[in-house]
Amino acid sequence: MNEVKLKARFHRNIEVDLSTHCWNWKKHRSKWGYGSINVAGKIQLAHRVAYELWKEKIPEGLCVLHHCDNPACVNPQHLFTGTNLDNIKDKVSKNRQGRAYKNRGTYHPGAKLTEQDVLNIRASSLPQSKLAELLKDEDPNKLKQMAQAAMEGK
Ligand SMILES: [Zn+2]
Repeated sequence: MNEVKLKARFHRNIEVDLSTHCWNWKKHRSKWGYGSINVAGKIQLAHRVAYELWKEKIPEGLCVLHHCDNPACVNPQHLFTGTNLDNIKDKVSKNRQGRAYKNRGTYHPGAKLTEQDVLNIRASSLPQSKLAELLKDEDPNKLKQMAQAAMEGK
């Protein structure tokens, strides 16, 4: 699949929201709201493909995050890379701005952590690198253990 054809596919599969400039993915979306696209027989997350297509290769181990907090959005201008920990921090800070509650935090269908977990992690004395490492595999049990350990001051 060449780049030009792939870009054309993106343009066919998005709907631009004129108020937010989000490129909303119209095709298949995961249950967390992320768009997916089949590239050369591999199902990939559309926003990650968009990032690589218009910006640059995603550094290994990093997530592609949304400035606009809209998982369906694939506008490369709205995307940036960060660690899983950045992702959590980003979500927490956006929650604090008092946006609509319904889809935020624990209420979000994609929530892996409760607000309390996040607060515990934030209060944790573990070095960031350790937290990032623990968060990388996104195992909710491990995150809980970590939050527990942080509360007990281990
Ligand atoms: Zn957007």
